[in-house]
Amino acid sequence: MKRIAFFIPFQGCGRRCVYCDQGAITGVRPGGDFLAPETVRSVLLSQVSPVELCFFGGSFARLESRLMMSYMDTIRFAPEGSRITFSSYPGDFEGDIGALVLEKLKKYPIGTIELGLPSLDPVVLRRCGRDDDPEKIKETIIALRDAGFRLGAQIMIGLPGQTAESSMLDVETIASLMTGARGKTWDLRIYPCLVLRGTELESLYRTGQYVPLTLEEAVRQTGALLLYSESLGFKAIRVGLLESDALRESVIAGPYHQAFGELALSEKLALDLSSKVSRKGQKDSQKPWEIDPKKISQLTGHGGRGINRLAELTKIPPETVRGLLVIRGK
Ligand code: SF4
Repeated sequence: MKRIAFFIPFQGCGRRCVYCDQGAITGVRPGGDFLAPETVRSVLLSQVSPVELCFFGGSFARLESRLMMSYMDTIRFAPEGSRITFSSYPGDFEGDIGALVLEKLKKYPIGTIELGLPSLDPVVLRRCGRDDDPEKIKETIIALRDAGFRLGAQIMIGLPGQTAESSMLDVETIASLMTGARGKTWDLRIYPCLVLRGTELESLYRTGQYVPLTLEEAVRQTGALLLYSESLGFKAIRVGLLESDALRESVIAGPYHQAFGELALSEKLALDLSSKVSRKGQKDSQKPWEIDPKKISQLTGHGGRGINRLAELTKIPPETVRGLLVIRGK
């Protein structure tokens, strides 16, 4: 289904998380032109087949109630079968206000509710300026799941106080809450933490209180996380922030790369292939790796990063690795 995304930078956010600058991330200036529901409606009226109407960049479920309903009501002008997808802060669904929001949402065709779940570690959450009770976050996930909504998780790596192990534990915890949910597969977005100009994280970085991951560390963590999360039933729909001039100009430090997602996929594939090598080493058995033709560039691209990494992981020389790669169907 075609996705049409509208950005509502920082709208509905009850806080400013230390790393966040939605202006740089979405390319839409916060407090700039107001997104009128009429604008959404006219875009939907021009569609000929069902669409996924998306609202990202803020905390949709905590928008002023009338505005939220106006945005959702526009779905009536979209072709039949269209759905609404949005991102929100987990705390939006807590308490009496949260319960009211849930009741309203049930009246609309909701595609996916993407929850911002950068971490479930209370120390990391606190250092990021977010609510720091993981139990409440889990209760929200369960409440949304039991109400029949399909969920997505937006997780992060390299946050202040976060480790590779805690990220792995987070996806494991979220996956354990999928049982009994509508749709066995939940969407997953993974974002590496970048130091963006004007954020509180910039001050922490400049005073030495925050050290970002290197690009290689971030790629390795993300590749491992992708492999593990897919084995747990997640469907990765985005890795790394959307590349734009606004983002490029705003990054001060951190694992920024225009093709971060591709690098992470090369790491994931190298890890996956290396896990198929016998203890004695594939070199001894000379058993080739069969590669999906669509994935070969993940090994050969970016100066053969995937091949070199596979060589490093298996201790097989890169030239031998190349000879052991067989494109499936050829
Ligand atoms: S991370 Fe989410 S909740 Fe936090 S400031 Fe950014 S958009 Fe708002």
